[in-house]
Amino acid sequence: MGELAEKPKPKAVKGEEAKRIKREALGIGDRRKHHSRKATPLKGHAKEPDAHHRLYRFRFYPTEEQAGQLAQTFGACRWVYNEGLALRSMAWEEHRVNVGFAETCRALTGWKRAEETVWLKEVSSTVLQQSLRHLEQAFGRFFKGVARYPRRKKKGRSRDSATYVRTGFTWVEDPERPGTGLITLAKQSQPLDVRWSRALPAGTVPVRLSVTRDRASRYFVSMLVEERIAPLPAAFVPGSRAPKAVGLDLGLASLVTLDDGTKIDHPRLLKRYAEKLVRLQRELHKKVRGSRNREKVKQKIARLYALISDVRRDMLDQFTTRLVRENQVLVVEDLSIVNLMRAARGKGKRRKARLNEAIIDASWGELLRQLRYKCEWYGRTLVIVDRFFPSTRRCSACQAKGPRMDVSVREWTCTGCGVVHDRDVNAAVNLRDEGMRLYWLVATGLPPEKKAPMVIKASELEKCLLAA
Ligand SMILES: [Zn+2]
Repeated sequence: MGELAEKPKPKAVKGEEAKRIKREALGIGDRRKHHSRKATPLKGHAKEPDAHHRLYRFRFYPTEEQAGQLAQTFGACRWVYNEGLALRSMAWEEHRVNVGFAETCRALTGWKRAEETVWLKEVSSTVLQQSLRHLEQAFGRFFKGVARYPRRKKKGRSRDSATYVRTGFTWVEDPERPGTGLITLAKQSQPLDVRWSRALPAGTVPVRLSVTRDRASRYFVSMLVEERIAPLPAAFVPGSRAPKAVGLDLGLASLVTLDDGTKIDHPRLLKRYAEKLVRLQRELHKKVRGSRNREKVKQKIARLYALISDVRRDMLDQFTTRLVRENQVLVVEDLSIVNLMRAARGKGKRRKARLNEAIIDASWGELLRQLRYKCEWYGRTLVIVDRFFPSTRRCSACQAKGPRMDVSVREWTCTGCGVVHDRDVNAAVNLRDEGMRLYWLVATGLPPEKKAPMVIKASELEKCLLAA
């Protein structure tokens, strides 16, 4: 380890030399300057204060022709993503030059001209560029330290998806049923057969849409819409001007415990599915690799996974909406996704236990995701307390530090003040108090008319204070 730390960081090649390497060794063309074209100033897009991006997801049924065209598009997106990744990795490892989004786009132009990959031309170029954009975002997350180095997308392993920007599709609203309409994708002749389970806000045009096919071979179109969502009136503690706050402890015994003692269990339905999943997994292992029966079981598993995630989303939706309506400040622990994943990969654990954990992890992730965007929509504050805050061990009554506890301990007595604590409720109370401390730290520094930020993260508190 020591050796690794002492090794000097390799220096990047820059300037003319980098340009030459890119041109000659990597085949990335130079940037062409359009001197004759006057730059048009960007149109000021004034985002209204309560305009938010909202995602609407609908199922659709492609015709055979559309399914074929989409399969080709998904394949091309995956190919371009992998090729972009290989180019960026190679450029750094062999030549020490950095290749960014714009350069991968120029490389894409080259790939489309190359004889062996002319088929790329059959797919909308903006869709392929979006694939490179996703790669750029994956690198961004890696450089920020929140994700691993981007990996190749594999057919059948990664979810199939393609993103269409505004120029990549046409949208004609149905005058009879506002908020629904005809969507026609680039390179396709017919509109999609969308099942409108609800309407978009009337008169809006989707900003962007993405088409996905899950492992159960279901097709979905997700539309990003800019929508005005009015913030809710502030929630105060009855009879005072203090914002109403709630602490959420995420756990294995109960999915969520609130500081008032409310416990939300993992729905029985999900447990039943988990058991079914274990059974199917066992079946899968008995089948011969590459056999048709194995494929069938695989399909069943994929469908079950899809069902689980649908059930989970719907169930959490009601819960998070209620929480956000009733409270002004919501306090949770910082569970970075990477950490969640790691928890699921314990060695030597039985398959069933592993699966259960994976399902719980995904529930937490979904819960936090929903809280985050709903807080933003409705003008609430989400406080994310540091992962190392000792929420479980501290006595919420006298602040004394309690003993180290095994996960199985559900109740403990404080040696300082003698209060008997429910492990999770105590943790939730501690989280709420710590969250409010952070909230006031930020809120008191604000000018009187300014509202508290939507997210206060303990690990980025300094940034929060500076912004205020
Ligand atoms: Zn105590």
